[in-house]
Amino acid sequence: MTIAINALDKLLAPENASSPGKVWLVGAGPGDVELLTVKALRLLQRADVVVYDRLVSEAVMAEVASSALCIDVGKQPGHHGLKQAQINQLLVDLAASGRNVVRLKGGDPFIFGRGGEEMVSLQQANIVCEVVPGITAAVGCAAASGIPLTHRDCAQSLRFITGHGRSGEPQLDAAALTATNQTLVFYMGLSWSRVISTRLREYGRSATTPVAIIENGTRQNQRVLITTLAGLPETVEQQKPVSPSLLIVGDVVRYYRADRVAAHEGEMAMSEIAAP
Ligand code: SAH
Repeated sequence: MTIAINALDKLLAPENASSPGKVWLVGAGPGDVELLTVKALRLLQRADVVVYDRLVSEAVMAEVASSALCIDVGKQPGHHGLKQAQINQLLVDLAASGRNVVRLKGGDPFIFGRGGEEMVSLQQANIVCEVVPGITAAVGCAAASGIPLTHRDCAQSLRFITGHGRSGEPQLDAAALTATNQTLVFYMGLSWSRVISTRLREYGRSATTPVAIIENGTRQNQRVLITTLAGLPETVEQQKPVSPSLLIVGDVVRYYRADRVAAHEGEMAMSEIAAP
């Protein structure tokens, strides 16, 4: 059952609670429902309330117990749903009213997911909070596109970077980004792809460094676009990838083979496994 946020008041009467509930901060993974952890699935089937955001796929939401209340606090890029402080308060109020609450977040709650802020707010309110990790977009997208994030031949380290700084433009650290033997993964980088392309070249990365844009990674409508650092802005302009999209920058992208990644789709993989 989905409930409108402004209809919540009646639910939040702490005097009805015999004992406070608990909040689980749960990673929903990048979209493919098969990538949920067993623990996440079990919690979704037992929750009283599920507070979820835009990145959580419909396939994952279909696993939520039909008796649970589902509250959408989604944020569109550039258009925020509830403010973070309001979400923090909502979680505290729901738990204080005695409910077991799953706060469901795309990918992993502790990777660019503000899970840390929600955890601290719950701790300050003396609400018990447990974190259940999820497969983060970088790991899911890499697997689903056949791009290894590290490889002994060309990538000895890996960096997860937000393409969206606190004030908008990404805060890129030149010294950290010049090494060629590392893979860079940009979350939320799509709208800043021109800046990312220019800065990385200024810092000395070659214009021909390969780049993959993975749109809707692990989902049925996944699309992979391969370009170079120099070609990135034009590819984004022409192909118009939409959110959520991830950028993988580095020589590991050369391992991508368009004809060998079709089997990422959950159903196809399952039928292959089931075959005698
Ligand atoms: N906590 C999440 C990240 C939240 S930031 C995680 O661990 O994955 C949101 C960004 O994640 C998006 O802008 C996009 O860059 C990336 N992202 C999330 N899901 C994705 C998907 N299925 N495919 C491609 N990128 C995704």
